[in-house]
Amino acid sequence: MNKKDFPIFKNNPELVYLDNASTTQKPKQVINSVKEFYETSNANIHRGIYDLSVKATKKYENARKEVAKFINANHKEIIFTSGTTESINFLSYTVDSIIKKEKNEILLTEMEHHSNLVPWQQLAKRKGMKLRFIKVKRNFTLDMEDAKNKITDKTAIISLAHVSNTLGTINPVKEIIGIAKKKSKDIITIVDAAQGVGHMKINVRSMGCDFLAFSGHKIYGPFGVGVLYGKKELLARILPFQFGGDMIKSVSFENAEWNAIPERFEAGTQNVAGAVALAEAIKYIEKIGIEKINNYEEQITMYALDKLSNVKGMELYSPPYKISSIISFNLKGIPSHDVASLLDDYKICIRAGHHCTMPLMKTLKIKQNGTARASFSFYNTKEDVDKLAEALNKINKRFNEK
Ligand code: PMP
Repeated sequence: MNKKDFPIFKNNPELVYLDNASTTQKPKQVINSVKEFYETSNANIHRGIYDLSVKATKKYENARKEVAKFINANHKEIIFTSGTTESINFLSYTVDSIIKKEKNEILLTEMEHHSNLVPWQQLAKRKGMKLRFIKVKRNFTLDMEDAKNKITDKTAIISLAHVSNTLGTINPVKEIIGIAKKKSKDIITIVDAAQGVGHMKINVRSMGCDFLAFSGHKIYGPFGVGVLYGKKELLARILPFQFGGDMIKSVSFENAEWNAIPERFEAGTQNVAGAVALAEAIKYIEKIGIEKINNYEEQITMYALDKLSNVKGMELYSPPYKISSIISFNLKGIPSHDVASLLDDYKICIRAGHHCTMPLMKTLKIKQNGTARASFSFYNTKEDVDKLAEALNKINKRFNEK
C-alpha cells in the first residue's frame, strides 16, 4: 500500500508520519468530498423544501447509512457527534435515565483515555455513584480475573476501550460484555472504539455492546465529526441531552415534543459536510478492505517491534501478544518529550507524554514524563520504521556522548 492518495505526503516528501493514533492523514477522496459538498450541495438539511436542501439531506442521511453498514448497525442507531469525546459525554449525561436504581457502580479499566474517564467521574459525583477499575497487569493486558470479580449485581455501566491508545493492547471487549450480560441484561455496556475502528472490523451486533463511540478524524475522515452507536431499544428510552433545532417535533411556550430517533439526539445545525466526508473515508477504507489493512498494519507493527527492540536502552510497553498498531516506548535516561522533539529533526512525527492516560502512567510507574508513542497506518512502510530506528540510535548516541 502506498501514500499516493494522500496529498500531505506529496507536499512534504520527507515526512515520516507515525502519529496516526492522534489523527490520520486524509486521502484526496475525503478532501475532495468536503470541497464538492460545499461547491455543489451546500444547504441546511431537513428543514428545506427546495431541491438543494433535499440534496444535502440525502447526502447526510446516506452518510448515516454508510456508517451503519460499516459497523453492522441500523441507520436509526447512528448519531452524529463531534467525536468520541462528545459521544461519551453525551452518554454520561443521559444513560442514568436507563440504569436500574439499585445499581450504582461504573466499571472502567485502568487504561482508559481521559475522555472515557472524566465524564464518568463527573456522573459519579453528580449521582453519588462509585467508580471501579479493572486492573492492568504487568504485561499491559487487562486482568480478566479482576474483571470477573468487579462485574457484580451493583454494576450499572461498563465503559472500556476497544484498543488502548497508549499500549496498543486489544481488549477482549466481546468477552467482557458477555460476562456482564450474563450477570445482568441491565448492565449498560459501552465501547470506546476510537482506536479500533479503521484498523480492524467492528461489528456491533457480534460484539454485543449497547453503545459504541468513535471519531472520524482517526479513520481518515475530517475533524469535528464522530459517531455514537446505540441499540435502538435503548435510544428509544433515553432522554435527549441538548435541545433546539431539528430534534424537536412540536413546541409550545411551555413544552416540547421530541422528534424520532436518531434526530432527537442531534440538536442544532450538524456538521453535514463532515458527515458526508466521513462516509467517503469509510468507502475509501472499504475499497482497500479492512482485513487487508489489518494484516498489513500487523506486519508493520511486528516489524517495528523487532526493529525497536534492537535499539540500545529501549524499554517497550507492549503486551506479549497481538497488538494494534501502537507502540509506546522510552529510551533509557532520555525524557520522552526530548525523544519526540529530536525525532522531529529527522522529520519523524511521533507523540510523547501521558497520551491522556495520566492514571495509567502512574499505575505502570512510568517516569520520563510518559512515553514516546509511534502509531502506524496502512500508508506507513518498512522504510518509515527503518528511519525511526536509525534516528533513535543516533539520538541515543547524541545523549550518551554529552
Ligand atoms: N478514546 C481514545 C481511546 C482515544 O485514543 C481518543 C483520542 N486520542 C479519544 C477517546 C478521544 O477522541 P477525540 O479527541 O477524537 O474525541
